[in-house]
Amino acid sequence: IEDDKMKTFEELESTVRSYSRGWPTVFEKAKGYKIWDTDGKEYIDFFAGAGALNYGHNDETMQEKMIAYIRDNGIIHSLDMGTTPRKEFLERFKDIILTPRNLDYKVMFPGPTGTNSVESALKIARKVTGRDTVISFTNAFHGMTIGSLSVTANSFKRHGAGVPLHHSVSMPFDDYVEDQDTIAYLERFLEDRGSGVALPAAIILETVQGEGGINAASMEWLKKVDDLCKRWDILLIVDDVQAGCGRTGTFFSFEPAGIDPDIVCLSKSIGGVGLPMALTLIKSEYDQWGPGEHNGTFRGNNLAFIAATEALTNWETDHFSKSIQEKADVLRKGVQAIISKYPELDAHQRGRGLMQGIAIGKDDLTDDICAEAFQRGLIVETSGPNDEVIKFLPPLIIDKEGIEKGLGILDDSIGATLS
Ligand code: PMP
Repeated sequence: IEDDKMKTFEELESTVRSYSRGWPTVFEKAKGYKIWDTDGKEYIDFFAGAGALNYGHNDETMQEKMIAYIRDNGIIHSLDMGTTPRKEFLERFKDIILTPRNLDYKVMFPGPTGTNSVESALKIARKVTGRDTVISFTNAFHGMTIGSLSVTANSFKRHGAGVPLHHSVSMPFDDYVEDQDTIAYLERFLEDRGSGVALPAAIILETVQGEGGINAASMEWLKKVDDLCKRWDILLIVDDVQAGCGRTGTFFSFEPAGIDPDIVCLSKSIGGVGLPMALTLIKSEYDQWGPGEHNGTFRGNNLAFIAATEALTNWETDHFSKSIQEKADVLRKGVQAIISKYPELDAHQRGRGLMQGIAIGKDDLTDDICAEAFQRGLIVETSGPNDEVIKFLPPLIIDKEGIEKGLGILDDSIGATLS
């Protein structure tokens, strides 16, 4: 990166930084589905803070409510104090999300981020069952701390831990191995008590693997995993950190499968405008923590509660979720048109709702395409074990025009990369 404005980053920041190397500029402002850099250049955001901005940048009502709260000297930090925003969030979450879906969960604030939610889920599953192993799936991503990383099936990410991670077993995800019945594989593993591998405490899964390449499990497969969990008395943890909060069209991504996971992890967009917030939803019977057994200083941020409560109102009418499905169709059709236009890419469409991707069969092109797209004003990133998938995660509030404009930039970027 030669540009002067990137120099301070390069000199001061640890090498852990990654996204900003792909987007070498300094961003300044954002609204809805658009971002502007310090030169005033406009970008369409198909990344949405890795799924943390389902409701777009700087939603006006959320902004106004947060500003008013600060101006009135509202309490910002909350730790374990009861505050008005915390109380309102919990009441609204119950009324708008849990009760209409007949879900009997205790709501826990495990810390500020997705990995905090996963850690708490793994902890409580182990505590409740008295077992230690957790099954996860090929290409799963659950976070970067030791527990969540141990169920993350990505050797590159695991390499960051330096030494082997324990207490997890990875199984093939739905459709991962062609012509193989992954449920039968899982069942054989569970039945094989003679091999010395202990019965697991839990199975953790994403219904659509975000970082792992936009691999969407079928509803039938999810139901079978749920059945297996019930049959073997294993807890089912759905990590809805990226696929939840409406990303796939329903509030929880598992809703169309008709399953009721024992534990659900939520983060990213639950904070409304990109504020750090996480929830762990635990079936009442498994809420077996003693007071103080899982805590942390930033377990509740009142500004996030305010934005989150406002975000929930979207689910009071079904108009919002219907609009997601309609936009998802626009995205799907546009992606299919690009795939047909460039047969040499050997590309395939993937995903559910507004969580979609193009898997590109032709080697090592995705990074070049995304870099070209950035130059042309589109923020989009890759996913998958070999970065072979271009991932589309626009804010859910994007309109048809925004989707078409973004796909137009992508189309031109592919054309330019191939020429
Ligand atoms: N689970 C899933 C499915 C995720 O996509 C992510 C983040 N990409 C995490 C957990 C971890 O969340 P965080 O980065 O907020 O710790």
